[in-house]
Amino acid sequence: MKKVIIRKTEEIENWKRNINSEINFIPTMGNLHNGHLKLISTAKNDNSNVNLVSIFINPLQFDNKLDLENYPKTIDNDIKISFLNGADAIFIPSNEDIYPPNNKNIKFLKAPIELSSALCGLNRIGHFDGVCTVVYRFLNLIKPKNLYLGEKDWQQLLILKNLVLREKLNVAIKSIPTQRDFDGIPFSSRNVHLSKNERQLIRFFSSELLKAKKNFQQDKKINLNEIIKKLSAKKISIEYLEHLHPYTLQKARLHDNISLLAGAIRCGETRLIDHVFLMKRSPIIAIDGPAGSGKSTVTKLIAKKLKLLYLDTGAMYRALSWLMIKENIDYKKEKKLQNIFKDISIVFKTNTNSYQDVYVNNYCVTEEIRSQKISSIVSKISSIKEVRKFLVEEQRKIGESGGLVAEGRDIGTTVFPHAELKIFLTASIDERAKRRKSDKNSKDSQEIDLHKLKELIKKRDFEDSNREISPLIKANDAIEIITDGYTINEVVDKIIDLYNEKIPKETEIK
Ligand code: C5P
Repeated sequence: MKKVIIRKTEEIENWKRNINSEINFIPTMGNLHNGHLKLISTAKNDNSNVNLVSIFINPLQFDNKLDLENYPKTIDNDIKISFLNGADAIFIPSNEDIYPPNNKNIKFLKAPIELSSALCGLNRIGHFDGVCTVVYRFLNLIKPKNLYLGEKDWQQLLILKNLVLREKLNVAIKSIPTQRDFDGIPFSSRNVHLSKNERQLIRFFSSELLKAKKNFQQDKKINLNEIIKKLSAKKISIEYLEHLHPYTLQKARLHDNISLLAGAIRCGETRLIDHVFLMKRSPIIAIDGPAGSGKSTVTKLIAKKLKLLYLDTGAMYRALSWLMIKENIDYKKEKKLQNIFKDISIVFKTNTNSYQDVYVNNYCVTEEIRSQKISSIVSKISSIKEVRKFLVEEQRKIGESGGLVAEGRDIGTTVFPHAELKIFLTASIDERAKRRKSDKNSKDSQEIDLHKLKELIKKRDFEDSNREISPLIKANDAIEIITDGYTINEVVDKIIDLYNEKIPKETEIK
């Protein structure tokens, strides 16, 4: 494809007609560095859309005239490196193009108060309104499929996500983690203004944040005053340093698993921001839903794609049911079940085909637990208080350090109530029975006629949903997905999009 430079808004329509493809849009203010280049190359590698980079210094987002005048401009080099890193077109409009003097159709937007009054919004009055206005203008003009933004400007990213929702814009926001230079400081166009000494100071600031992140992994604590003291001792002028909830930007709460430590400092005339995410454990996805909703297939694929541990809690209830039958344990009468459980080990091991096998006391039960015999008693056994207590504890041990996707009936409500993403996957009885009948892992189901299978599923639904302890219900904060009519990949992609929306990419960096 011929690489083009577009300089007029009117040319955009013409260009769009010729490309015949969806667009990835990467807005920038120029003076491109490795952070921008990572956005461009990520867009290029994500899909086969056409990549459009814009270079426009938006006057509306500057609250300081001098800062606007001094904003570094390196347009020839920007064009060269954008094309080299995967841009197909570069849009370099003038001020008059974006804000025609007499054009009343320009919509001047306000950023939401809740998000824009914190952090950078405190001192940069009108900054985020300007950002919203220009991005809205670009999005309406270009109508891209994807918008690529860096997590470096985390508050801006939140405000733009809010804009897309509020204005019902049909664009997906993709983010990339903060890119850091060799000395740990985030790439920023304003870094060129730093003297050697100033660079040392910002380096100290970033390294303190990174250190706090590392310490937090160990002792789950953060001491803001200690960091402030250390920065002040170096005569670093702090504009703010805050520990907040990463999405609401309200003060972080004790049970927040992921929180944001964000700061802004001044070095001479230059103001620089940096942040880290503090994590008590790696993220968890909880997927609950009734039998045959597609949970297992979807959960396994998500685990593979996101490189998370896969936890099939149903297999644990099945494994315990298998043992009860094998050992002739009368679970209705037995009073000392907890004593029996003391010596039971249920473990998952990945086999040579990369699938998980289930072992009960070192005996592989993967196939046997899928029989109709087990399916017909597992709901009864899983409604016993001691059984649930034992297995929920085992499941929590497995998920202690996070980094997993767990499927079951009570994951979002009981096992991991603070999971970062909760999905309630369901489908009509007809659809679920059809799926079970064609499920190669459940051989017995293949032999039962469809009507009977529907009745069995209904019975299990009833038992699971009406038991006293941890019944199958949708957690208040779970997102329901009805899978009738959707392919497996469509459901998987939807959940991965939700995960990316809810979890900063940066949390994946150790
Ligand atoms: O998901 P699967 O069909 O393998 O689960 C088998 C049974 O285990 C369910 O019908 C339910 O009775 C029980 N179960 C549960 N809580 C979970 C997972 C499964 O009670 N978290």
